Amino acid sequence: MTPITLAARTGRALRLGVGDSIAIVNLFGQQVVDTWAVSAVDPTRVLSMAHTRMANGRLAVEAGDTLVGSDREPMLILESDTSEGHHDTLIPACDPARYLQLGAVGHHDSCAANFRDALQELGVPVPSQVPQPLNLFMNVPVGTDGTLRIEPPMSRPGDRVMLRAVQPVVLVLSACPQDLAPTNGAHHAPRDVELRLQPSHDHAGGRPLS
Ligand SMILES: [Zn+2]
Repeated sequence: MTPITLAARTGRALRLGVGDSIAIVNLFGQQVVDTWAVSAVDPTRVLSMAHTRMANGRLAVEAGDTLVGSDREPMLILESDTSEGHHDTLIPACDPARYLQLGAVGHHDSCAANFRDALQELGVPVPSQVPQPLNLFMNVPVGTDGTLRIEPPMSRPGDRVMLRAVQPVVLVLSACPQDLAPTNGAHHAPRDVELRLQPSHDHAGGRPLS
């Protein structure tokens, strides 16, 4: 399938049917991608990191894990991951208040705004609160004393995560615009990400897709 560019600092919402997969490719290696899923049937049901941590029994997620909604129903499978598997499930999406805290003056793009804008663009009702995202490639080491640090991602150029939909979802992705912290690398430079959609064989009439 033709790759889609998720431009640095921007968001995008895509509809995935059951069995559809999407590869999120970290072209430059250190770009964090905030990731949400909203039920395409009932948009009040969203992917829940708290319930996903419970379902898999760990803080992070890794290949083979099931990502579940707040009703504990599977929404996505993390099918494969070529990175070293450092993904964050704890840190909220960046938002205007966070950039104000960091000293930004005037408008600053944010993952929270990207989430809302991307859903609106597809005509999907926007939740009143931005759910906790799955922060793909975000490196948040947890100290033995429970402290959290945000460090540059450990992923490399070309690393990719493949997600597969278990139920019809609207997937929302944001190439995090954080440039005031090392979230997206010590260079503080948000970058483009590549998306590769792979419809399920069922949708394609059984033809294999590349
Ligand atoms: Zn962000």
